[in-house]
Amino acid sequence: MKIDHIGIATNGIEEAAAAYRDVLGIQVTETEEVSGQKVRVAMLPIGESRIELLEATSADSPISKFLAKRGPGIHHIALRVEDIRARLADLKSKGARLIDEEPRTGAGGCLVAFIHPSSTGGVLIELVERGEKTSPD
Ligand code: ZN
Repeated sequence: MKIDHIGIATNGIEEAAAAYRDVLGIQVTETEEVSGQKVRVAMLPIGESRIELLEATSADSPISKFLAKRGPGIHHIALRVEDIRARLADLKSKGARLIDEEPRTGAGGCLVAFIHPSSTGGVLIELVERGEKTSPD
C-alpha cells in the first residue's frame, strides 16, 4: 500500500489553497466536485501522493459535520490498494467496522471506501483503487 492522499477539511478550498501556495509553495493542479460525497475537492500533488482539500457543498455533507465538531484540519488518510473489493472483504472478515461495504466513486473516478475510525485507532481511513488511466493495448 501507499499513501494516496491526505484529506483536509476546509471552510473553503480557494482560501486554503492560497495558504498552501503562499506558505509551502504547493500548487493546486485540479479541482472537482464529487456530488456523491457532497464536496468540492482541490488536488495538490506532492511526490507520488497528494493533499486533497475538501469543502462542503451542502449542510449535510460529511465535511460540514466534521467542521462543526472539530473545525478545519486533517479529515482522513487515504491508502491506495490494488483490489478494493478484496480489501473490504478482508477487513469485514476481521470484524472491522466499515462505513462503505461497497466501493463508491470518488474524486478522479477512483473507487473509494471508508473505514470507521473506531476500527483504526481514531483516524478515518479511506481506501482508494485507481482505475487504469489507459486501457491495455
Ligand atoms: Zn480522500
